[in-house]
Amino acid sequence: MESPTAKLDRVVKEIADEMRQRPDRGEVASYIPELARVDASRFGLVVIDADGHVAAGGDSETPFSIQSISKVFTLTLALGKAGDRLWQRVGREPSGSAFNSIVQLEYERGIPRNPFINAGAIAITDLILSGHQPREALGEILRFMQFLADDDSITIDEAVAASEQRTGFRNAALANYMKSFGVLSNPVEHTLGVYFHHCAIAMSCRQLAMAGRFLAHAGRNPATGLTVVQKERALRINSVMLMCGHYDGSGEFAYRVGLPGKSGVGGGILAIAPGKASIAVWAPGLDANGNSHLGRVALEALTKRMGWSIFGA
Ligand code: GLU
Repeated sequence: MESPTAKLDRVVKEIADEMRQRPDRGEVASYIPELARVDASRFGLVVIDADGHVAAGGDSETPFSIQSISKVFTLTLALGKAGDRLWQRVGREPSGSAFNSIVQLEYERGIPRNPFINAGAIAITDLILSGHQPREALGEILRFMQFLADDDSITIDEAVAASEQRTGFRNAALANYMKSFGVLSNPVEHTLGVYFHHCAIAMSCRQLAMAGRFLAHAGRNPATGLTVVQKERALRINSVMLMCGHYDGSGEFAYRVGLPGKSGVGGGILAIAPGKASIAVWAPGLDANGNSHLGRVALEALTKRMGWSIFGA
């Protein structure tokens, strides 16, 4: 009889092989020029189970731009600072509109729908920045990622950050718009600088899956036994990921994959199988909603074969 670990290893390898052969890869993000240079044929998948076993397939060790996946970790940090007061600055409802939509922000008088659309993440970044210099706030975010992944080698890709800083006119519009409603406390350029840089953190699938372990295990890192956040908070971060983690593709992701997940325009997705595993996948080609196409296909196959959907095996 195949052991659960052997099954997981086999399934991950099978999926990596299947994805390598698929012709439908989506389109790499081009609105950030540096991301347009990434090779769309790359694919990586890492699953870390409750016992710490690492199942890896494809380009699992190659660092990529985590982009909006960083928003899960900035939300975690900001909740640590502000607690539930944070929800006065941003909502927690699915947006049903594009990740960089300005229309909704006007309707809702500068209060972003949720912490994962760009406006919401910029507001959260502003909260982390308050009382600090941009360099200190960024250092705090990076050190948190290194701590969670247990890996000091994680860095920021300065070329990606500079590329977005030069071209991030929409994000500048969102930030200025929120500033006009008094939602941001710091100078817009400072908040945006920290935001662009945390989006430009580069991590491999293995590092990202390591960093997500506390969300899979009710706030505790199972390897060290250390509590990162209280159980209730971890559960709630997962719920926001489920409802809002894929922008206006969140319903489709929940329908097909059945796990909380957060995508980034670098082509990564962090997905959480509560009590079972932390999962990171990377396939740079995106679908029309700006979510990794093959990343979603791979996660759908994984949850089906492992029986991991939160809606029932
Ligand atoms: N840094 C990107 C932006 O602000 C993040 C978007 C994403 O990854 O979905 O446009």
